[in-house]
Amino acid sequence: MKFYVLTLFPEMIEQGLGASILGRAQERGAIAVRTVNIRDFSENKHGHVDDYPYGGGAGMVMQPGPVYRACEAVEAEIGHKARVLYMTPQGRVFDQKLAGELAQEEELIFLCGHYEGIDERVLEQKVTDSVSLGDYVLTGGELPAMVMIDCISRLIPGVLSNEQSAEVESFYDNLLEYPQYTRPEEFMGLRVPEVLLSGHHANIEKWRREQSIRRTLERRPDLLTGARLSEKEEEFLQKLREIT
Ligand code: SAM
Repeated sequence: MKFYVLTLFPEMIEQGLGASILGRAQERGAIAVRTVNIRDFSENKHGHVDDYPYGGGAGMVMQPGPVYRACEAVEAEIGHKARVLYMTPQGRVFDQKLAGELAQEEELIFLCGHYEGIDERVLEQKVTDSVSLGDYVLTGGELPAMVMIDCISRLIPGVLSNEQSAEVESFYDNLLEYPQYTRPEEFMGLRVPEVLLSGHHANIEKWRREQSIRRTLERRPDLLTGARLSEKEEEFLQKLREIT
């Protein structure tokens, strides 16, 4: 997977994604992150890429020309049309399902706005998906792009050392993950649940599934409608509902 990020602040992306698991994944070539500085496509001698909004109002708006040319340059490099994701609070809210869908692509282009956003005309021309990180407003699209790239990358083979771990985490199967424990066995008088020390894999698996169901019911009951549960697990959930 190759991620292209069109931004006015490439160093944010490079620093944010250059460390830890994603940094190593880039070194191994499992993913590639290429930043494109929109300012490099300014035709203004001072490198300006923003201007006052027509009609008045607060703030500055990113001009369409530099964004358009930056996008064209990336599309020419890729050699075919790729999805262009505009980071915007007005878009579809990003979630694990969308991450799974986007992980199937070979390349993705992220477009990061700043200031009051980007001139609507270039968005109409170039953007295939408007995507939001959530119902709040940030100063720029860089953090949303980093969050999304992180999440999508975890689904790309070769990024996580243990590929299974992306499959048993929260939101997989519409359940939150079970509680995790590590050494020591006792911490401030609190013991690790005995079943986890038993070595009995089937019992551990059953306990974890039940904990996932319990936790999802307590914290995110809205998810449960889409969860795939066995008959026994449905009964377990029913009992939990009766006692809560
Ligand atoms: N005036 C815009 C509006 O009300 O929709 C908000 C502009 S915001 C201050 C500047 C940039 O930050 C946006 O162009 C977008 O790229 C990014 N941004 C802000 N909040 C975001 C969110 N929740 N999800 C994705 N991107 C966001």
